[in-house]
Amino acid sequence: MTCGPVGQGRFSIFRLVVYFTHTASLSLSLSNQKRKTVSRVVFIIHIKETNTFISTTTENPPRFPSDSLLFLSNKFQSIFRIAEILIFSAMNLFGFLLFLTLSSIASAYEKFDSHLLPRPLILEYPNNIEIRFKESDEDLQLLCSSWRFAVETNNLTPWKTIPSECAGFVKDYMTGKAYNFDLEMVSREAGIYARSIELVGDGNDVWIFDIDETLLSNLPYYADHGYGLEVFDGHEFDKWVEKGLAPAIESSLKLYEEVLGLGFKVFLLTGRSERHRSVTVENLRNAGFQNWDELLLRNLEDLGKSATIFKSERRNEMVKEGYRILGNSGDQWSDLLGYTVSNRSFKLPNPMYYIP
Ligand SMILES: [Mg+2]
Repeated sequence: MTCGPVGQGRFSIFRLVVYFTHTASLSLSLSNQKRKTVSRVVFIIHIKETNTFISTTTENPPRFPSDSLLFLSNKFQSIFRIAEILIFSAMNLFGFLLFLTLSSIASAYEKFDSHLLPRPLILEYPNNIEIRFKESDEDLQLLCSSWRFAVETNNLTPWKTIPSECAGFVKDYMTGKAYNFDLEMVSREAGIYARSIELVGDGNDVWIFDIDETLLSNLPYYADHGYGLEVFDGHEFDKWVEKGLAPAIESSLKLYEEVLGLGFKVFLLTGRSERHRSVTVENLRNAGFQNWDELLLRNLEDLGKSATIFKSERRNEMVKEGYRILGNSGDQWSDLLGYTVSNRSFKLPNPMYYIP
């Protein structure tokens, strides 16, 4: 019987399967250096096992039957030996390919840090995230731009704060060039209109200006309160008003001086309280505004009225007194709408708050 070589061959195949499986599992979790070491050990064992198998096969070659009684058993034994050689050859090829694979993986990974297999995925993932965020930022900018357009065109239902998603957008707008460009555009067009009018010259041609965010800027106050992100706090705002430090909106000051020079009477119509008259006068003068004809503030009986009603009532009184309201500048639609409206109204930009 040729038990020796057959047993040796079975033992070799069993060992090959064990260490190939073990090596494959190890390669998924080891570092590059260890993976390379394992692949080299696999190769050495593989060569050793091959030599052992070849030597035992050479020393115990398959024997052919010498008589008819042993023919069948020898025939089966030879077939089994041939099958074993074929299987072993296949394992040789598999082992060599595994060695090449492990070596190439280890070499490739040496280009990167000694991270585990997911490293290439991690390298690609931030790029995808960045693109998605970039698209999202663009969409957000467009949405906030649409929101601001709706504010300025008076298409929104009454609102108390700016959308939290647009906090950065509004801040950038108010502190960047865009806000000043928009202010200058409004004042320039208002000036063109004012110069186009042939005044009667009887002292009854009137231009109305609102004060807050029209002549004076409260941007220093709103910079400390989220540019409209916080719900309006009248008590805190009054503290700011009483400081009398609001700077002029330069483009409005230019228009103001121009319409005065053209012969308009200038009426200042504001939602500020009568108790703030003196500080408002002082603030206006310090900011460069002079020679207005009337400063109209809310008195006690006006405190519960909407701005639209309060200002419409004041405009109506002006008309009853014989004034012609030819121009009106304000940052809120409630400065401009209602009844007894001006011949032309000029809406200044203000995405920070809404006054009904
Ligand atoms: Mg205003």
